[in-house]
Amino acid sequence: MKQSSDRAATMPRRLDALIIGAGFGGMYALHRARGMGLDAHAIETGDDVGGTWYWNRYPGARCDVMSIDYSYSFSDEIQQEWTWSEQFAAQPEILAYARFVADKLDLRRDISFGTRATAVEYDEDAALWRITTDDGTTFEASYCLMATGPLSVPKQVDIPGADRFGGELYLSGKWPHHPVDFAGKRVAVIGTGSSGIQIVPVVAEQAAQLYVYQRTPSFTLPMRNRELTPDFIAHIKTYYSDLRASARHSLTGGVRPITYRPLFSVSPAERDELMEGAWQYGGLAFLGLFSDILTNREANEVVAEFVRGKIAEVVEDPDTARRLTPRGYPIFARRPCLDTGYYEAFNRDNVTLMDCLEHPIVEITEKGIRTDQGEVEVDIIIAAIGYDALTGAMLSIDVKGKDGRSLKDKWAEGGRSHLGLMIEGFPNLFVIAGPNGPSALANFILLNEQNVDWVCDCIAHLRANGFRSIEPRLEAEEDWMTKVRELGSRSLYPTANTWYTGANVPGKPRTFPVYIGGLGRYREICSEAAAGGYRDFKLL
Ligand code: NAP
Repeated sequence: MKQSSDRAATMPRRLDALIIGAGFGGMYALHRARGMGLDAHAIETGDDVGGTWYWNRYPGARCDVMSIDYSYSFSDEIQQEWTWSEQFAAQPEILAYARFVADKLDLRRDISFGTRATAVEYDEDAALWRITTDDGTTFEASYCLMATGPLSVPKQVDIPGADRFGGELYLSGKWPHHPVDFAGKRVAVIGTGSSGIQIVPVVAEQAAQLYVYQRTPSFTLPMRNRELTPDFIAHIKTYYSDLRASARHSLTGGVRPITYRPLFSVSPAERDELMEGAWQYGGLAFLGLFSDILTNREANEVVAEFVRGKIAEVVEDPDTARRLTPRGYPIFARRPCLDTGYYEAFNRDNVTLMDCLEHPIVEITEKGIRTDQGEVEVDIIIAAIGYDALTGAMLSIDVKGKDGRSLKDKWAEGGRSHLGLMIEGFPNLFVIAGPNGPSALANFILLNEQNVDWVCDCIAHLRANGFRSIEPRLEAEEDWMTKVRELGSRSLYPTANTWYTGANVPGKPRTFPVYIGGLGRYREICSEAAAGGYRDFKLL
């Protein structure tokens, strides 16, 4: 009896579709796959749905895409039932939303939580994927959907001595589930990207002392978050379907003004007026001002200089203001940050800026952080040092395609794929919101929906026409990669050291695996690829 139950435990579970990840991409994939009658199951490392919003529960965590945009559009029922409280939602509200959707769609019954995929291997003869997990469960699935997320592998603290620190050390991207008490504590924040910039003002109000270790200063704009009024909500809900339809075909997947006006077509006085208006309005209003901010270096510099001037206006100490002022890379070529009181925090007596460009961190000690200026003793270190983005999550799994070829080898020079959706040599492996699609430049939830819809339509096509497998032709993949590279090289994005380019991870190949043609155009290209009978793909 015991023997047979052991055997049952090690027998692979046979599925039509296995989905890796239960963030917003994986949740929708599971819903769609089930809806088309597939035997589908998802595995998720966390203990609940939500993906990045399950892990990123650091103080001040908030989305920089407007809540009315950063939510599912596929179900009007969900849109009508859920009500956002703020223009930019905080992490607890976004996680509550993910849970609401999981309950509503009864998703959890088909998700194994606390389960990480360790290896994913293709059996060409059987045309199926074998998935091994860290809890010993194995699956066999005709289709494997990688909904592993673009920002789900936090960088580990690689500063010497990190393991001997005697206080509390937290990663922003793997924040503990217990409350962290900063009252009366000396706290260090390392990193001033979107995460660090959100953490600083909140912790500054609670801690006795806060030391902000900044290497590259970021450009950050005031978020000017607001509560959403009942009238506004009622209005949005009346027109939600239309708003969503236009967002799907927009550049970024959100309701945001766009412009065809180059910066130098406007007089200096009018420019200043427009920029002042955008600064006062808050959010990403700047991106709707001029058409060439990310293609014309001189135009970019005008906007950058305006924002630099604002830093000098807000920060009282001129030396701190100077150190906080970003130089040497174009504004918006790194992901723009939105803050609430970030620069103002440096006017507090208990906040000190530590300039790591001038005085790099030498080591973490038992008691704190040492630079060449000496040791600063702290009780808590928060490392907000970013992610092995875009490719990191898929490469953390041992993925082997046809002939045992490993994804690590295929992606040795950077993530390659066709349309960001499929990889030559890896049939029936689908990537959701992966590298080489619009990725970081689009609203991830609408991108997830589009990717999942494309994948599910593709699977329906295979099944309706008796095909066992699909993979992109090598030439098609190369053409797409050339297109992504050429478009990217016409912009200023590749010129900055960012997670977009892999420059933030030592040893990572430097590429710019983001399609910058916009979500709307990307949708058309993907639809054309399907409508043309998947001519760019090998169907067997
Ligand atoms: P990030 O933008 O990559 O920033 C990491 C920061 O850590 C940088 O300032 C970096 O400096 C610094 N750093 C890394 N290693 C360091 C070291 N050894 N010593 C000193 N400093 C070090 O990461 P993030 O802030 O987590 O944001 C990543 C992305 O997540 C964002 O761009 C955004 O897309 C997303 N996100 C969004 C929100 C939101 O919606 N509001 C919030 C958080 C994150 P260098 O630049 O010099 O390397």
